Amino acid sequence: MQSFIKEKRLNICEFFISHQGEGRLIGELMYFIRFGGCNLSCSWCDTNYAKHDFKEIVIFDIIKKIKEDGWDKGRWICITGGEPLMQKDTGFLIEELVKEGYKIIIETNGSYPIESLNKKIMISMDIKCPSSGEEKKNLLSNISLLKEKDQLKFVIDSEEDYIYAVDIIKKYKPRCLCIFQPQLGNNNPKDFKWLFDRCKKDLLDVRVILQQHKIVFGDVRCV
Ligand code: SF4
Repeated sequence: MQSFIKEKRLNICEFFISHQGEGRLIGELMYFIRFGGCNLSCSWCDTNYAKHDFKEIVIFDIIKKIKEDGWDKGRWICITGGEPLMQKDTGFLIEELVKEGYKIIIETNGSYPIESLNKKIMISMDIKCPSSGEEKKNLLSNISLLKEKDQLKFVIDSEEDYIYAVDIIKKYKPRCLCIFQPQLGNNNPKDFKWLFDRCKKDLLDVRVILQQHKIVFGDVRCV
C-alpha cells in the first residue's frame, strides 16, 4: 500500500448514504462524502455548515469507513461539499476509490480546474448565475473539458439567471447534459412554472430538474 494513503489527510464534514437528489442520477442510492470548506459564498447556499464543521481524516481511514459501512465496490460514491477541489489531495482519494472499483461522481462549484481529474469519473459542475453573487468566480475554460457523461448545472432563481445561463450555453456549447435547477430554498416548486414554460418557448435543449430531497424531506441535513 502506498504510504500517502496513511499520511495524506482531507477535511471531511460528513459521510452518509442517501438517494441522489439532483441531476441526471437522481434517485440513485449513493455513498456521500461531504468535504469541508468552500471558497465561495453563494447567497442561497444550503450547506453552509460544511464550511466550518469538519475534521481531518487520513485517506486510508476514509476508505476503511466506506467498507465498514458495507458499501460494496461497483456502487456510486458522490464526492461533494463544500468544495472538494479546494483541497489539493482530493485527487489522491479519487484515484484510490477508482482503483477499488467504485463509480465516482464529484460535485464541484466550477471555480477550480478540473483537467487533472481521472477521466473515468463523472463530473457534475456548476456555473454560478448572478443570483448566487459568485458568477465572477466561474472558471469558464473548464466547460470544454467536460465529457459527454458529465453534467453542467445552473441553479436558476430569476429571469436574469436564465438569460445568463442561456448565453453561457450558446457561447461555450458544452458537450454534456445541461441542467437548469430551480433554486427551491424557501420557494414553492410551483413558483418555477415560468422556467419550464420559458425553456419550452425557447426550445432549449436542457433538462429542468428539481431537487427531489428538498421536496420530500425539506431543507434538512441527511445525517
Ligand atoms: S459553492 Fe456550494 S458549498 Fe460553496 S457557497 Fe456555493 S452552494 Fe455553498
